[in-house]
Amino acid sequence: MDLDLLRATLAQRGQPAFRAQQVWEWMARGASSYAQMTNLPEALRADLERSVPLSSLVLEREAVASDGTEKALFHTVDARPLEAVLMRYRGGAKHSASVPNPSRDGRRSVCLSSQSGCPLTCIFCATGSMAYARNLTASEILDQALHFRRKESSARHPASPSESQGAVPAPRIDHCVFMGMGEPLLNLDNVLAACERLPDIGIHPSSTTISTVGWIPGIDRLTDRDGPTIRLALSLHAPDDALRSELMPVNERYPLADVLDACRRWHEVRRRRLYVEYLMLDGVNDRYEQAIALAALLTPRTAFKVNLIPYNPTDSAFEGSSRDAIDAFRSALEERGVPATVRLTRGRDIDAACGQLAAAGAAPRVVTTPSPR
Ligand code: SAH
Repeated sequence: MDLDLLRATLAQRGQPAFRAQQVWEWMARGASSYAQMTNLPEALRADLERSVPLSSLVLEREAVASDGTEKALFHTVDARPLEAVLMRYRGGAKHSASVPNPSRDGRRSVCLSSQSGCPLTCIFCATGSMAYARNLTASEILDQALHFRRKESSARHPASPSESQGAVPAPRIDHCVFMGMGEPLLNLDNVLAACERLPDIGIHPSSTTISTVGWIPGIDRLTDRDGPTIRLALSLHAPDDALRSELMPVNERYPLADVLDACRRWHEVRRRRLYVEYLMLDGVNDRYEQAIALAALLTPRTAFKVNLIPYNPTDSAFEGSSRDAIDAFRSALEERGVPATVRLTRGRDIDAACGQLAAAGAAPRVVTTPSPR
């Protein structure tokens, strides 16, 4: 929902300012129509229905993977594409493969885009090969999360009381990562404005992660700003400047040593471990010596934790490393005292990697649903 438009419309109608907050609270709880907002006068609800769309985004396509991961492709009112992903984890345990048990549903994590396209041109990334459009507004960022918030509540909270018998409470979306399209630190004001409202949806700052290519001015702002600590992830992907510059041209501007210094300072001030993301690219960055070089970079040990990411194949020339290569890389890191985990691959059958759905132009197993207005 365009919250500026909402406030302006309410002011125009001579409505008290608290109405905007009332509408927002309904939205944050997963309301999918103004009709549900029963503490608003009926005439106002009908008026808002006509004048302020429930979402600033138009849903274009959806795809659901066999593991429950769901991806949505939207466009903005000015026809800019973007996408978001909901990852549903089963049971209490994060990586449990047990039979789904709805009453014990686990974590729900939403992956949001901060820009339509991306001006950085990481050569392995599908978003990097698309045209860059623009920064997303705070409302456009929030509307991605609200889309899934509505879906989760309508799936678990049937409308009529008779239907609700036996219904289980809606599992909360409780984690958020800025790992969709775009570089969040190039749009930090809007990303932070969205983050301020995420707790109303049920997502705490300590469960929110901003992922960056290593845009130093943005890292510094996150270090020095007032306000709660949001988690930080650095897309590192190569243990030396030559290879990193090849994969991620932004490294020419902000080389590794400087980026890691900025990360250490964030850690010292914020007292949290930083996640280092490391894509595993076959024959490119997955050799034993490269694991050793990476371990040497990540000091002090208490500051970093590595996530090894299996590559989701795109149209690029890269292929993902084998499971054995990933395991060996992880062991080499752990032997040197660097905590490392292998990221579970999710949504592979729906092109869930960054930018893939938008770049492909068509998605397999598509469910088309009209966007709520
Ligand atoms: N610009 C930010 C956030 C968006 S990308 C960043 O670079 O961190 C989020 C993560 O997805 C990054 O670590 C990125 O390198 C990774 N990624 C991009 N393409 C991928 C692919 N095909 N498979 C797996 N991860 C990918």
